[in-house]
Amino acid sequence: MKPQTSGPTSNVTPIKRNSPGVSTHWTVEHACSHRVDHDLSNRPADKRAGFARWLASKDCTDCWKAARDADSASKEKWLAEKRAEEQEAAAAWAKQFDMPQLEGPAKALDWGERSRHQLMMAAHTALVVEGFSVKFSVLS
Ligand SMILES: [Zn+2]
Repeated sequence: MKPQTSGPTSNVTPIKRNSPGVSTHWTVEHACSHRVDHDLSNRPADKRAGFARWLASKDCTDCWKAARDADSASKEKWLAEKRAEEQEAAAAWAKQFDMPQLEGPAKALDWGERSRHQLMMAAHTALVVEGFSVKFSVLS
């Protein structure tokens, strides 16, 4: 992405054809500074200029897709890291409070341990921090 150099109203240009009325094709300079011709013939004539300006405030389709792909990749990484952190916290907590070992397949155990930890933390927050009276039973 490059910094935007032109104002929000100057970066859309109707492409004049030999037809009356509002142009159906507009050259839009996107926020990513790519210039792309857009066919806006399927938009109402009085909405085209506004739509072109809206497009100009966004990245072009290619950049948008690239950003989205990078985004979902980093989200997956973030999620995996968060998982690992939660797992570590849950394991440490279970050890500290001498929680009984969960039984089951390894994959379910990780999930179960995180869930138990989150549940107990939520209950702890409700009881101690927020002062609510919460009744819960632990099945084990
Ligand atoms: Zn672009």
